[in-house]
Amino acid sequence: MNVRLFVYQGFNPEEEGLREALCTLGNGYFATRGAAPESEADDVHYPGTYLAGGYNRLKSKIKGKVIENEDLVNLPNWLPLNFRIDKGAWFDLRKVEILSYIQKLDLEKGMLIRTVQFKDKKGRRTLMTNKRLVHMRNIHIAAMETTILAENWSGKLEISSALDGRVTNSGVERYKELSSKHLEPVEAEEEGDIIHLKVRTNQSHIVIAQSARTTLYKKGKPLACQRIKNEEAGYIAQHLFVDMEENQEISIEKVVTLFTSQDRAISEAGLESWKEIKDAGTFKQLQKSHFSAWENLWRHFGFDIDLSESRKVSHQEQVLHLYIFHLLQTVSPHTRDLDVGVPARGWHGEAYRGHIFWDELFIFPILNFRVPEITRSLLMYRYRRLNEARRIAKKEGYKGAMYPWQSGSNGREESQKIHLNPRSGRWIPDNSRLQRHVNAAIAYNIWQYYQVTNDLEFLTFFGAEMFLEIARFLADLTTYNSKEARYEINNVMGPDEYHDRYPGKEEPGLKNNAYTNIMVVWVLNQAIELLDLLAEDRLKNLKEKLGLEKKEIEKWEKIRHRMKVCFHDHGIICQFEGYGELEEFDWEGYRKKYGDIQRLDRILEAEDDTPNHYKASKQADVLMLFYLFSSEELEGIFRQLGYEFVYETIPRNIDYYLQRTSHGSTLSWVVHSWVLSRSNRTKSWELFNESLKSDVADIQGGTTPEGIHLGAMAGTIDLIERCYSGIEVRKGILWFNPNLPEHLTRLELKIRYLSHSIDVVITTKKLTLTTLKSPLPPIRIGVNGEVHELKSKDKKEFTLSQ
Ligand code: BGC
Repeated sequence: MNVRLFVYQGFNPEEEGLREALCTLGNGYFATRGAAPESEADDVHYPGTYLAGGYNRLKSKIKGKVIENEDLVNLPNWLPLNFRIDKGAWFDLRKVEILSYIQKLDLEKGMLIRTVQFKDKKGRRTLMTNKRLVHMRNIHIAAMETTILAENWSGKLEISSALDGRVTNSGVERYKELSSKHLEPVEAEEEGDIIHLKVRTNQSHIVIAQSARTTLYKKGKPLACQRIKNEEAGYIAQHLFVDMEENQEISIEKVVTLFTSQDRAISEAGLESWKEIKDAGTFKQLQKSHFSAWENLWRHFGFDIDLSESRKVSHQEQVLHLYIFHLLQTVSPHTRDLDVGVPARGWHGEAYRGHIFWDELFIFPILNFRVPEITRSLLMYRYRRLNEARRIAKKEGYKGAMYPWQSGSNGREESQKIHLNPRSGRWIPDNSRLQRHVNAAIAYNIWQYYQVTNDLEFLTFFGAEMFLEIARFLADLTTYNSKEARYEINNVMGPDEYHDRYPGKEEPGLKNNAYTNIMVVWVLNQAIELLDLLAEDRLKNLKEKLGLEKKEIEKWEKIRHRMKVCFHDHGIICQFEGYGELEEFDWEGYRKKYGDIQRLDRILEAEDDTPNHYKASKQADVLMLFYLFSSEELEGIFRQLGYEFVYETIPRNIDYYLQRTSHGSTLSWVVHSWVLSRSNRTKSWELFNESLKSDVADIQGGTTPEGIHLGAMAGTIDLIERCYSGIEVRKGILWFNPNLPEHLTRLELKIRYLSHSIDVVITTKKLTLTTLKSPLPPIRIGVNGEVHELKSKDKKEFTLSQ
């Protein structure tokens, strides 16, 4: 079994949406779903193409009110390529007899290959193979090659090759009532074998230009043919005609270029697209450079694991590679030069409108330890939106910068105000924007990036400013409760989106969400440490720029020692104040009644009830603390606050909340698997496998076709990479504390730390670290509680204490 190859047998209309999402090809700049070239958006197919950061806003009228949403725009479809014989019906899978059908996603080479053998109503048998790529080196190019073999017929073959800008955003059923027409036509042209289309988004005015060159080949040689143009507003096609003889094979090559007005180093998108298409090589040439780009990427991102059960094994490994593949197609080394964040659902579909959430907390670690330049650029996406975050904070009456829960083009709050419960058909208020903890996630990521890279320049010029502004906002979010002599945070939501208000209360918001409060303490601790890290002159400049005065820092000192955390049941950390008084939920009864209760919120709302009444969470909330911090770190924070924290606090809380979580977010499996990795390896492995299934098996029953879950994908890889290897940076030391689950017997990966490339091999008994040659100073590593030095071109072996 090839670990980097996915093979799908047969055509199954019901599974097509999932396949299309999982067979998406992209290069970090744009992505195209794995829809068949002859397909159109209908009840089976959804051929979407998305530009990283390509957003547009539209207003819709729902329940008599006008709302505005910013969407990731479905760009003109560059795929259309279809054919018919002797003016018969255009090829349609559902109208022919399929003799064989196989689709392969080659992760190694970044290629999608589909081979179909079919018989039409007149008994004509045809073998067709389509190969396609979205170029990983030249981000403006995509290409495909279709080979047609006339097995038992002869006749006139008509091929239609088009660029279709009449598309709308209609990939998510729940959004159907919202406005969806984002594109307006600008121009369409034809020159020789090239067609060209230009459209514009109707609010953000992004110009999108595509050019396609279609060439016929017979026996490897270009074939001249008759061409007829077909054009309408927003659409242009070329029809090519060729006489086929029985047993003859021809191939059709379609090379496409895509530019937009958001590109750098361009004059005008249309001009660039024309220029590029004239220079672009043949499919074969493009294939070669594309493969080599992927080879290079896999060198940095590959890993190797041995699992004891043989058959299941390869599938797990395969899925892990599939997830790395999609991570790299969403954020690739090209992201470095783009102004984009990392979208929760990839650039693979329209769910969550391509928005950026706190999910980067789960995505950054893998990138930090492999290609930190990508993380840096994703942090720059946040930095460029710092002013908008300041504006939001000011508007809400706070100091500093308040980053939005959902971010898109300019960093404005993009969370929807109402959302549809497909179960009840009702539009209900969406208060998820009250998740202020997204700010702590950004600060946490800045800090992690710095720990792994020591990039003091980034910290000095960008990171520190964001960090301090976030710290200042979070501190200002607190209020002082003089009766308890504690600082509190009211009117927020934690990561668990099922709880947005108290039972019976109209106004949304909860008090003292433990995760938020502890994160605020951590941010303030680090903010104070950060002030010591910056050079004197720079610190002075920054303090002046921010107007940060001693008095404010003194207040941080107070907050970080007196923040409130609530407890119930003798040592259970309350998810929020009052959680302990909520009703227990009838898990068994509901499982019996509904089977799948992941989306309990929708089930209860449809019953005119709400999860707000119950001790029932959508995802890890309190447990996020054990995911992000070691027990020593947490003990330190709790002690600092004057609360008791004993080791048993961790297993007790894990046990308590695990029983009260429906895992309605795919992120939840990752966190639960992680927090159990030390205390219950078997359960952790079980949950790792659940997490692994998230997208490949579409465990949420239909959400993956609307876009992958990048946080769950990256978080699952990270379970192998950092959790089971125990890789962690603490105070300038890279620690390895492996704890392989029973089924994982060997783990081999490459990491980057302080610019060193380190090959890591972990078996149940031994850890081997090898560095490549470099002019860098040695680094400090920690194993079995001891600190060692690792130089360039060094190899060190350690016997692991059990
Ligand atoms: C989860 C959030 C997550 C969002 C985007 C929601 O279902 O509850 O935690 O950020 O999806 O992935």
